[in-house]
Amino acid sequence: MHNAVYAALGLDRRYVAFHVTAGHLPAALRAIPALGILGVNLTVPHKEQAARMIHELSAEARILGAVNCVVNRRGKLFGDNTDARGLERDLRARKIDLAGHRVIVIGAGGAAASAVLCALRMRAATVAIANRTVSRAARLARRFAPMLRRRARIEAHGLDALDDAALLSDAACVINATPMGLTTRGFAPLDYLATPARCLFYDLLYAAQPTAFLKPALGRGRPVADGAGMLVGQGELAFELFNGIAPPPGVMEAALRTRLGR
Ligand code: NAP
Repeated sequence: MHNAVYAALGLDRRYVAFHVTAGHLPAALRAIPALGILGVNLTVPHKEQAARMIHELSAEARILGAVNCVVNRRGKLFGDNTDARGLERDLRARKIDLAGHRVIVIGAGGAAASAVLCALRMRAATVAIANRTVSRAARLARRFAPMLRRRARIEAHGLDALDDAALLSDAACVINATPMGLTTRGFAPLDYLATPARCLFYDLLYAAQPTAFLKPALGRGRPVADGAGMLVGQGELAFELFNGIAPPPGVMEAALRTRLGR
């Protein structure tokens, strides 16, 4: 995606992959200014360790305790996290308004934390977290409780809540932030028909075909989206952080579509 934008802009820059083990992360980060690298994206399992190592962090990286973008600011490292803003950018592009509505986030890992932050940034009235391990959902809810606006709520549930019509009947959006369906045969039981007809089902996973979470939603006429839009959104934000210019709209999306074969 980044190289497609460099080509479109005629910039002599390259986005390349480095395989860095956990033990080498401190040395790899220290090398960024020395090598004149504009910035790097970090992925699992480095996001949390980097947040502990980099002193200058954005508010979002601090709240999430995770860094997915390291920017070389004249030799000083700045850690940011573009996942929540990337998801928000995609939801807004789809004209999804979460303000005053209920959002359900499935999962309680790093991606779920970004989804919760996104929902709160978009002024959701209630964020219900449903996770296999309820104590992790409760821990995530406690972490975001200080950020809640007046009358906003954050709840923690087990996955059984997804089969409870009462939880789903006024949901504006259900976001899957787990690898269920990819690493498992199917998805947890979910009462799709209990949701309002306009409820958006959003899977952070992306694939050439509709995922196990999205297929039943499609069958019941609900709008769906997969994580390709969030990936593009966080990538466009990262590009701007690294290069100081916004990428032309649509270039990263087209590159990802080609890669995914759709
Ligand atoms: P993570 O930290 O490992 O969290 C995984 C979550 O999934 C946990 O809540 C875990 O529940 C749950 N889970 C895992 N296996 C499960 C199963 N068999 N049944 C029920 N729940 C299960 O992972 P992550 O980094 O948050 O990523 C989650 C997903 O989001 C991944 O599939 C990743 O590819 C995707 N993602 C997409 C984007 C994007 O740009 N589109 C960005 C980031 C992540 P427990 O707490 O009970 O273990």
